[in-house]
Amino acid sequence: MSGKLVIFSGPSGAGKSTIVNHLKSIGEFNFGFSVSATTRPKRENENNGSDYHFLSIDDFKSRIEDNEFIEWEEVYPNQYYGTLKSEVNRITLNGKNLLFDVDVVGGTNIKRQYKDNAISVFIQPPSPEVLEARLKSRKTESEENLNKRLKKTRLEMTYARRFDKIIVNDDLETAKREAEAIVRDFLLK
Ligand code: 5GP
Repeated sequence: MSGKLVIFSGPSGAGKSTIVNHLKSIGEFNFGFSVSATTRPKRENENNGSDYHFLSIDDFKSRIEDNEFIEWEEVYPNQYYGTLKSEVNRITLNGKNLLFDVDVVGGTNIKRQYKDNAISVFIQPPSPEVLEARLKSRKTESEENLNKRLKKTRLEMTYARRFDKIIVNDDLETAKREAEAIVRDFLLK
């Protein structure tokens, strides 16, 4: 079971990263994690090279021109995110499966490219109100960024039906168990 792709997407604050981090911590899945490139500012608790490759907008754009991404998106105005081919090669050459935490457009793009070798999972917040409360309590975003993220949620929610699986994250422990079961089933079949 190597070289398979597992994609997690959903609105910001839906609990995606927590679930993805949980899956990373489970040894049996043999996951490598694709470290995305981004132009958004680094948060205090993040490290360059392990959470993201933090790039300037100019650097990011020149890499687009050089065809270095398997997909990229301007997820929020002037905040670009993308999956580097070099990351995917590094992980699959090591005989591992790939785990992605990407936005809904990136998720559908990767699924389209890799088809049955990939599974796409949408993490859905229980309601827009819960999502807003989660994003606010996280306190990682400026007021401006918070509003950008909330504005985008409605559009992101319409992508759910394009995914292979949907997990409604109203209870985190249950959502983690569901994610584990989906991934186990996909990687072992
Ligand atoms: P954050 O700024 O909260 O880390 O991420 C914002 C959004 O960008 C999240 O939905 C996250 O999944 C998405 N994202 C992270 N990396 C990538 C990537 O490589 N490609 C795409 N399309 N989206 C990404």
